[in-house]
Amino acid sequence: MIITLKKEMSKAEMDTMIHELESVNSVAVTVIPGETFNVLGLVGDTTKIDEKHLRANKFVENVTRIAAPYKKANRMFHPEDTVVSIAGGRVKIGGHEKIAIMGGPCSVESHEQMMIIGEAVRNAGASMLRGGAYKPRTSPYAFQGMATEGIKCMTDARECFGLPIVSELMSADKIDEFVENVDLIQVGARNMQNFELLKALGRIKTPILLKRGLANTIEEWIMAAEYIMAGGNSNVIFCERGIRTFEKYTRNTLDLSVIPIIKQKTHLPIVIDPSHGTGYWEYVESMSLAAIAAGADGLIIEVHHDPERAASDGTQSLKPKRFAEVIERGRQIAQVIGRDI
Ligand code: PEP
Ligand code: MN
Repeated sequence: MIITLKKEMSKAEMDTMIHELESVNSVAVTVIPGETFNVLGLVGDTTKIDEKHLRANKFVENVTRIAAPYKKANRMFHPEDTVVSIAGGRVKIGGHEKIAIMGGPCSVESHEQMMIIGEAVRNAGASMLRGGAYKPRTSPYAFQGMATEGIKCMTDARECFGLPIVSELMSADKIDEFVENVDLIQVGARNMQNFELLKALGRIKTPILLKRGLANTIEEWIMAAEYIMAGGNSNVIFCERGIRTFEKYTRNTLDLSVIPIIKQKTHLPIVIDPSHGTGYWEYVESMSLAAIAAGADGLIIEVHHDPERAASDGTQSLKPKRFAEVIERGRQIAQVIGRDI
């Protein structure tokens, strides 16, 4: 970190600042005197230093961070890819592992629905089953999910078809229910910066699928992962699901550029959600293939046998046959880049 100081700062004031930086943050400070400014060069772990706090000092002209503000997620300190192991290793995501395909409905609607879709998703070649039992809906009058009963439909489907399950947790008071029943816990876009929830997830060991917030930068998203990891849970998988832009032809703008960026900056796996990323089933296949070509470690796709009657997100849900075709074509692309599904 580099701190530029105005010349008006007295020697005593500068010494106090240096002493505080060295004693509180254990960094080594080098002073570079200049004609118009004095510059402090900080070496060591600067993650705990708040730039805004420094800028509050009237003699501070500028603060430049050299290293990223995240440590545990940073590839610099952990060069090898992290492989996240789900359900005792039945599915592994990241590194050179197979590309994981998760399919299933937006919302769990009934036991029968999960039996139909669970079987179809397994037969299509998916490795995990998705389904929301607690739904974050824009309207309080919209279907809110089957809650505990929905989780039971998911675990029954897992029992029948042998696919580990992924489901969204909305609040910390349901953590025990999820730790007991769910193999991969999804943090939805709307909760990406629910810091108390992230801290609570840091205290468990269950893997987390961390969706990117509706309008969050990549750095904010990595910092959300850092919250979970700082608490002790390093089983974090990123999930890009599109961000808010001015574009109206799609529900969200799917930012596939995050794939190489997340891989460069962090060692964690990245999964793409082309369903929420586009909002229309017609665009799901091409974005799925593009994501695989770009190096995604997995896909999470909404699948429904009767999308017209789906309780939520029918417009972006694939029918099982189409889902199977996406996996088949995806496998061909994967093999071109030396991976498999
Ligand atoms: C979902 O997966 O159904 C969902 C609500 O996701 P997101 O948080 O990405 O909107
Ligand atoms: Mn959905």
